[in-house]
Amino acid sequence: MEEQNIGEIVELLKNSKRVAALTGAGISAESGIPTFRGKGGLWEGYPVDKVASVEGFEEDPELVWKFYDERRVNMKDKKPNRAHEVLAEMEKYFDMWVITQNIDSLHTMAGSKNVIELHGNIWRFKCTVCSYNEMNYETPLHEIPPRCPKCGSLLRPDVVWFGETVNEVEKAFEIAKNSDVFFVIGTSAQVHPAASLPFIAKDYGAKVIEINIESTPVSVIADYILRGKATEVLDSLFLRLQEALQ
Ligand code: NAD
Ligand code: ZN
Repeated sequence: MEEQNIGEIVELLKNSKRVAALTGAGISAESGIPTFRGKGGLWEGYPVDKVASVEGFEEDPELVWKFYDERRVNMKDKKPNRAHEVLAEMEKYFDMWVITQNIDSLHTMAGSKNVIELHGNIWRFKCTVCSYNEMNYETPLHEIPPRCPKCGSLLRPDVVWFGETVNEVEKAFEIAKNSDVFFVIGTSAQVHPAASLPFIAKDYGAKVIEINIESTPVSVIADYILRGKATEVLDSLFLRLQEALQ
């Protein structure tokens, strides 16, 4: 991390009111949750188009539920890491918003209150027919595919699949347009509309700060790039910020 950059970012934050962070799978990588590997069209051994689309679900709900059941089993004991914690603690100092593509609940578990879960939540189920939904933490599921207790139809995970509308998208854009600082953390910035948010934020005057171990399409427009692991970068940045705010 470049020392000069950190100093400038701390100064910038000291004069900021609204701060937002768009996060992706990379922020949960250090909690032990694998990131998305689209290469080869497989996601943890499953064909992506089959397990992340309505068509795939209609064709083979059992396969889709097996995939989500495995992911839930894997996520069950995972805890928020220092990066999630820092974003939660930042609510004490800023009008702070987390806009996440993750479905793992770790931001909420870390204590963030202002969280937009663009892609839903793997711990919530919803009925494919009626309005029933529930939080469900059973791992592994005793019944696959699970059925709606109200109407008997198939339940599905309340996550956003390809071709579906993301949650709270207007609110996310409103936040991007009104942020002083817009962090982009651990996302490959390939999936739209989430990936558009940093560009919108920049157009409306926010300073964009990317935290990622690799470069992404956002790197081109970022005002600051902090190359490194989200936990390490955010921990040292936050330490410096707290010193400066005392
Ligand atoms: P992605 O897997 O496409 O990209 C991950 C990014 O994180 C990469 O740019 C990588 O360089 C970076 N990264 C990896 N480890 C990092 C670390 N320790 N610190 C900082 N950066 C790190 O993820 P995406 O952009 O979120 O898109 C994937 C899609 O898959 C999303 O739609 C998301 O909903 C879903 N997904 C969610 C989870 C989760 O909920 N935890 C996990 C996997 C995939
Ligand atoms: Zn129902």
